[in-house]
Amino acid sequence: MKLADFFQLLKMGNPSKPLIAAALFLGLLETGAGLVVPLLTKNLIDQLSDGGIDWTIIVFLLSAFLFQTVAGGFSFYSMTYVGENIVARLRENLWSRVLDLPVSYFDKHESGETMSRIIQDTNMVKMLVTNHFVAFLSGIVSIVGSVIILLIIDWQITLIMFLSVPLALLAILPLGKIIYKIAMQSQDEMAAFSGHLGRVLHEIRLVKAYNAQPAEEMEGKEEIRRLLRFGLKEAKILAVVSPFMTMLIMLVVVVIIGYGGARVASGAMSPGSLVAIIIYLFQIVMPFSQFASFFTTFQKTMGATERIVEMMKMKGEVGGGKKEIDFGKPLAFHNVSFAYEEGKMALKAVDFTAEPGKTVAFVGPSGGGKTTIFSLIERFYKPTEGMITIGGENIEAFDLHSWRGAIGYVSQESPIISGTIRENICYGIEKPVPEEKVKEAARLANASEFIEKLPQGYDTEVGERGVKLSGGQRQRIAIARALLRDPKLLLLDEATSNLDSESEGLVQEALKNLMKGRTTFIIAHRLSTVVDADTIIVIEDGRVTGQGTHEDLLAAHALYQKLVKQQFKMK
Ligand code: ADP
Ligand code: MG
Repeated sequence: MKLADFFQLLKMGNPSKPLIAAALFLGLLETGAGLVVPLLTKNLIDQLSDGGIDWTIIVFLLSAFLFQTVAGGFSFYSMTYVGENIVARLRENLWSRVLDLPVSYFDKHESGETMSRIIQDTNMVKMLVTNHFVAFLSGIVSIVGSVIILLIIDWQITLIMFLSVPLALLAILPLGKIIYKIAMQSQDEMAAFSGHLGRVLHEIRLVKAYNAQPAEEMEGKEEIRRLLRFGLKEAKILAVVSPFMTMLIMLVVVVIIGYGGARVASGAMSPGSLVAIIIYLFQIVMPFSQFASFFTTFQKTMGATERIVEMMKMKGEVGGGKKEIDFGKPLAFHNVSFAYEEGKMALKAVDFTAEPGKTVAFVGPSGGGKTTIFSLIERFYKPTEGMITIGGENIEAFDLHSWRGAIGYVSQESPIISGTIRENICYGIEKPVPEEKVKEAARLANASEFIEKLPQGYDTEVGERGVKLSGGQRQRIAIARALLRDPKLLLLDEATSNLDSESEGLVQEALKNLMKGRTTFIIAHRLSTVVDADTIIVIEDGRVTGQGTHEDLLAAHALYQKLVKQQFKMK
């Protein structure tokens, strides 16, 4: 099952078959040359002890070494080439897959987890292909070849050697299983640890502001100690296995040299044979030690394969049809219900109509479902029941790319990506944008003044590694970004609620420019910003409990009256 999946993945990487064949062939040649070397050594020694020397043997021996080295190098490069290409294709595939996954996926999975699939799990596949595949096959050839030649040279000594095999297996098999289990656990622990470090470092200001360093230090120390314990457990087992294996090998060598030496002395065996036997012994032992790591990598790769395939199978966002969207028609929610998680309704039978070019405002207690309405309009999620239409047509019928392209979203926490101010304003626009257009958008967004004061103007780096922008500045960049796309629908989610009154004035003005002539949905904490809306909709606990103009609601809606009263008292 998993193995089939693994080959499926390899196929997806579209590896070059001739190259794999070449790598295998060269790998086998390398091993073959390795098998010839002891035989040549044997002849050389036997000739030397007979007093003569045939130079052709030395030439052969040197050629065999050279051949082994060159074939090994080419084989390694070809296999690495194949492996690297497979991992690159897999990563390309996964990355476009991940970007296409619906928002609900990202609600459920930590970004660290997704990252480790793209980076680490694909790397496991490469490791198996590059470092272990050829080594495993040539290891088997080396062992089988050595054993056959040994049996021909001296079957008695070969049998003595074989006596040690069951002993070695007796020690390796059970302990190997334990080591494998520990390796798996410590891998999980390592993933958890790095995830935790990432979260703490990301929120370092919170950590410091709330004096949480000691607590975080403790927690980190505990995780580090757990990792230490796993490391030591593994070391304990290795401390038994490794010396045992060394001892076993030494024992075999001693027995062979002792027994073989006696046979050489009695003339039953040539000294060259004895040397060859010892070299073959090592050619059997060395691949064995590689097998252990092959099987561990193999198991890990099967785990990684399972995770990669699981991700490949996930459904991406549905693109919708190619129908032309008519934003001149009203957008309406028809009894829309929605649940993020089963059984917990965030929206219940929401029903409203927004006329084109008008402004619809949403007010109500936080957690009521206002942002959820925006997410549904953006088609981040699909309604659980009911539907959203424009001009009577279900919005799912339109191409997702064009749909989102027609929406401008400005939220409370306007995201800034790493890059220049210009890149931030032009974010997501595929064609190059003329300079005047960028400047015009910034001017209408009330942002050009502060941008031009920055050291490099529009080329100033902002975001994680650049200049930190204030809340109001970020907001105005976001508005410029929205303006540049010339959206048909505007979604403003508490776009001014985080700002001081001076920035708020600037942002309000910018928003007015942005809203001109567009259908606008606005969520506002401050009622002063929504009193002019054409329709105000009150959302409480996922339901629409009132809609109308400010005057309508002030006359008839209890919660709205209360909100108005509270805000007037505050001022
Ligand atoms: P508002 O914007 O009115 O404050 P939201 O639409 O953000 O309210 O949230 C409505 C309800 O949905 C809340 O109970 C909130 O906890 C829940 N919710 C919001 N986003 C998610 C999410 N991504 N996953 C699960 N529940 C969510
Ligand atoms: Mg909200």
